[in-house]
Amino acid sequence: MRDFLVVGAGFAGSVCAERLAAHGKRVLVVDRRPHIGGNAYDRVDEHGVLIHPYGPHIFHTNAKRIIAYLSRFTDWRFYEHRVLAQVEGKLYPIPINRTTINALYGLALDEDGVAAWLEKTRTPRDPLKTSEDVVLNSVGPDLCDKFFRGYTRKQWGLDLSELSAGVAARIPTRNNDDDRYFTDTFQFMPAEGYTKMFERMLAHPGIEVRLGVDFEDVKATESFGHVIYTGPIDAYFGYRFGKLPYRSLRFEHQHLPDTAQYQPVGTVNYPNDHDYTRITEFRHLTGQQHSGTSLVREYPQAEGDPYYPVPRPANEALFKQYEALAKQEANTTFVGRLAQYRYYNMDQVVGAALAAVDDILAAKP
Ligand code: FAD
Ligand code: UDP
Repeated sequence: MRDFLVVGAGFAGSVCAERLAAHGKRVLVVDRRPHIGGNAYDRVDEHGVLIHPYGPHIFHTNAKRIIAYLSRFTDWRFYEHRVLAQVEGKLYPIPINRTTINALYGLALDEDGVAAWLEKTRTPRDPLKTSEDVVLNSVGPDLCDKFFRGYTRKQWGLDLSELSAGVAARIPTRNNDDDRYFTDTFQFMPAEGYTKMFERMLAHPGIEVRLGVDFEDVKATESFGHVIYTGPIDAYFGYRFGKLPYRSLRFEHQHLPDTAQYQPVGTVNYPNDHDYTRITEFRHLTGQQHSGTSLVREYPQAEGDPYYPVPRPANEALFKQYEALAKQEANTTFVGRLAQYRYYNMDQVVGAALAAVDDILAAKP
């Protein structure tokens, strides 16, 4: 009997496997997909451009411990992500900042002027329960409609008022000209890509990786001391209480030959135009030099691979029912964005996986 089975070779599964192997455990990792890395997997496309098949992944964190841990498996390329949103045919910085407000309304406000303008423009809300509360409370109805309501309807198939506050709270509002999408202390891309980083994590002799293999297949034929499950929690329990909604996407990849640059920044958001939410041009993220350029458009959809938990009270209540079952499941740990049904960024998944292994090793040294 092997010590551990890890279901899923994404951030959650790979970090757990690496840590357990480093502590002398024998680990089998399975993933139903034909590759490691989960949604953070990257690869060189048929034109020679490094792309992210599951949409743009930009690493950012404030946690020194997490960047230090991952630095054992990769060098980094400094990269600060910038995003523009197309509104009424023109491009403006998002998060909304001083530049956005001055350009959109023909103003020349300084930082204090922006603060005063927002104070009279916003619609104070208390408490901030929904994403609509968050956006109206910070920027008021016009900016809400121009930048948030349409994008959110497309991305989630829901109105801002139907989503928990945390979704829109990911996007701040700024009085200054800072046009970076993230302000974290550490903002880097793995120098040779995510997949290379995962390969090094999983290269430990105590780890065996089997790809194209489903949990259902191994659980029927082999036994393990402990299972770490990083797939959707409702699937683990056979959808006993009903399906937990996960939002999916269809990715449309495109390569433009002999094109130095398609758009001025890594991502352009389309809050009110088109069926896709955003276009990302990978060369900005990776810094790769190439005669052509590769892009991805994201089309949100209800069906398909689970990509996003949908944060709203009814779903959180359903998740709690599954979580209660998970707590009773002997010798099994549920960790990651799908298993914990949390809108986690990559660094938060790394943090959750490190904590999960600490707990396991404390109980089973
Ligand atoms: P996953 O990466 O989903 O891995 C789970 C794995 O388990 C999958 O590979 C799946 O195939 C496998 N699996 C599931 N069930 C089974 C089964 N029964 N048997 C076998 N295998 C199974 N985060 C950031 O920090 N920055 C970003 O810029 C960013 N951009 C994103 C863009 C998009 C479009 C998406 C969808 C996510 C983005 N994220 C970003 C979030 C990031 O992808 C996740 O936080 C992280 O990849 C989650 O890792 P995970 O291991 O929990 O899950
Ligand atoms: N959002 C929006 N307009 C934008 C950018 C974001 O309405 O131009 C809202 C939308 O609801 C989105 C959420 O903020 O789903 C979080 O955005 P983020 O860019 O963090 O989403 P992710 O990269 O995780 O898809």
